[in-house]
This record gives sequence, C-alpha cells and structure tokens, in this order.
Amino acid sequence: MAKCETIAICNQKGGVGKTTTALNLGVGLSRAGKKVLLIDSDPQGDLTQSLGWNGDDLEKSLGRLMYLVTKDCKPIVEDTILHHEEGVDLIPSNLDLSSMEVSLVNAMSREQVLDNLLQSVKKNYEYILIDCMPSLGMITINALTAADKVIIPVQAQYLPAKGMTQLMKSIDRVKTHINPDLKIGGIVMTLVDNRTNLARDVISSIRTHYGMAIRIFDTQIPVAVKAAEAAKSGQSIFTYDENGKVAKAYEALTKEVIRSGEREKRRDTVSLSR
Ligand code: ADP
Ligand code: MG
Repeated sequence: MAKCETIAICNQKGGVGKTTTALNLGVGLSRAGKKVLLIDSDPQGDLTQSLGWNGDDLEKSLGRLMYLVTKDCKPIVEDTILHHEEGVDLIPSNLDLSSMEVSLVNAMSREQVLDNLLQSVKKNYEYILIDCMPSLGMITINALTAADKVIIPVQAQYLPAKGMTQLMKSIDRVKTHINPDLKIGGIVMTLVDNRTNLARDVISSIRTHYGMAIRIFDTQIPVAVKAAEAAKSGQSIFTYDENGKVAKAYEALTKEVIRSGEREKRRDTVSLSR
C-alpha cells in the first residue's frame, strides 16, 4: 500500500467546519478507494458523535491511549479503532482527552505522544485525518507534530487574517523545532454563501496577509442546512444528501487532495532521482 499521508484539519477558531471537513473528506477518500483513519482530537467528541457514537459511553478513546503512553505503557491502538459503515475507521474521543492537555505538560516527548501512537497503525492506512480542537494547546501541537500536512478550513463569514496569524506561528514553531517536513496543504473556504461576496473578500485578505504562495483550494464548501443535519444523523453528507451541493463540493475537494498528494509524490521522486 502507498505511504500513509497524515493530515491535520486545523484552525483554532471553532465553528469553521473542521469536523464537517474531517468527516466528509474522510468518507470522500474512502469512497475513492482509499483506506482512511479519522482521529477525533477534540475532547468535545463532535466527530465521534457525528459518526453516530456517543463518546461518553466509550471506555476506549484517544485520551485513554495518550494517557497510557504518558504512563510508559504501550497500548494496542487497534483495540480503540471503531469501524463506520461508510468505510472509515475512527479513534474516538470524549472528555477523557481534556485532562491530557494538562498532563502532557510534564510528559516526556510531550509533543510526540500522538505521533508515536500512530506509527503502529500507519501501515494499515493511506490517509489519517486528525480533526483538531479549537485551540493551539498541547493536543493540537501533537496533531501538528504527527501530520505531514495541515488543511485549514476558513469560514467565509468574517475576515480571518488576524486569527490565522497565531495558527501560522504555531505551524512555523512545530516546523522549526519538531517536524521540519510539515506543509500547509491548503486553505478550504467553508460555509460559503454564494449570495454574498464574502468568500472573495476573505480570499483576498488571506492573499494580502500571507501572500500568493499559500494554496487555497479551488473547491469552496457551500453553506446548506443539509450539512448541519447530516452531522446529527451519524452519516456523511454522501449518504445523507448524496446529490446535494455539499456532497458535490466534498467530492471535488477529495479529488483536489488526492491530486495534490500525487503531484508532491512525483516531485519527491524527481528530486530523489536527481
Ligand atoms: P468546527 O469543527 O470547526 O467547530 P463544525 O464542522 O462542527 O466546525 O461546523 C460548525 C457548525 O456548522 C456545525 O453545527 C455544523 O453542522 C455546521 N456546518 C458545517 N458545515 C456546514 C455547511 N457547509 N453548511 C451548513 N452548516 C454547516
Ligand atoms: Mg470540531
């Protein structure tokens, strides 16, 4: 199987579509024939819930796994993985993860706990998507350390330039100190209402602040009630509203993500053979 690509879906602002994107990009990749593991790294457990599980009922969770690692145990990660009927696997989360934010502060290799955990299961997957929590604390730093790429959902409803500066700084810091190969996979505009020009304004503000080099995906995710309803149904948008515009958008985003991964692989092969 091809090398696993780990993508953190990250933005410290809440309500921008991180969880929705992790879920639907994950299922999109799975429908494209890829083996996908989703990681819920938010103690709120929204991704876990959106896939139909009640995090509070689960004894095995990401928080539990990370706790065991900080206690020098070597937990079997597979035992915590849930299998969703739409083809994706999930490491779920619940409030057990929130205490990790504190206990990680004194742990050895505290930034690498998640990365270490994932090493043993990477061979089984082509994509691992990490749904981040809305903060830039230790758990998110763990996600950025474990990731090859970050995808940043940005809500097309306000000018996000200032909030993104902190995120960019965190990404730079992780790159400098721990994970030099970390890349920004791109920004995806979410909750886009075509009746307004907000998406265009937000994109031009991002360009002004962060330059042309940063990738903004061509696909924009439109705002639609069905997307919010799907989250409550335990299904992806592909099952809940197969022919709707949000399903079409996530399918297009999936293709862009696959294509950009393939392009990078070709580039790496060329530079290796030089
Ligand atoms: P985050 O994980 O960044 O907090 P969510 O993915 O949970 O963001 O989305 C925030 C809220 O907006 C949720 O209630 C979700 O169901 C809803 N939502 C997400 N994407 C869309 C969309 N394209 N159209 C309408 N509502 C959406
Ligand atoms: Mg979320």
